[in-house]
Amino acid sequence: MMLSFVSQCKLLGGWLPSLWNETFEELLDDDNELDHGDQWTLNFNYTQGDTLTKEERKRGWKIFCQRVFGNLKCPSCRKVWGSAKVTVLFRYRLRGERGAVIMRPFGQACRSCLDGTYARPGFSEEEVERALLRLCAKIRKNCYGEMDDNDVGREQPNSTNNFKPHVKELCEACSQGICREKED
Ligand SMILES: [Zn+2]
Ligand SMILES: [Zn+2]
Repeated sequence: MMLSFVSQCKLLGGWLPSLWNETFEELLDDDNELDHGDQWTLNFNYTQGDTLTKEERKRGWKIFCQRVFGNLKCPSCRKVWGSAKVTVLFRYRLRGERGAVIMRPFGQACRSCLDGTYARPGFSEEEVERALLRLCAKIRKNCYGEMDDNDVGREQPNSTNNFKPHVKELCEACSQGICREKED
């Protein structure tokens, strides 16, 4: 059921925050993934890290870091590649009746250009939905105390056939010591 690398590339649209917003709204409004009557919003921050201060913890923030399948396109040479290990980092909290999610996507550098810039990843609709379903499961568990944390879509794409091994030197998340699955 995973799309092939080629069809993934056809879907390549680069970094598209609105796709994440729209999918998040659909999951909440149509599928009632967070069915507790609270207002949840998804925003983006391109500098946040994966550690929380004492103060932030006290204010209810939590971290959920995933590695997902993404496509990247070098802005200089236009080379396109896929990676099963694109890091997406979420902070989230529920305060009163307002829930907030703040997302950061991590980029990868082009191995041909090595010009010190990171391409921002694009994602297929399926991958966005899978990542957000996992996030909703964490929110249900950690903000609403629901115990059925049956991890949705845990299966990873077959990384041996279509993908080269993860190159730490080219990964923005690795450069900041963030590139791993994490929650707290
Ligand atoms: Zn390049
Ligand atoms: Zn990495």
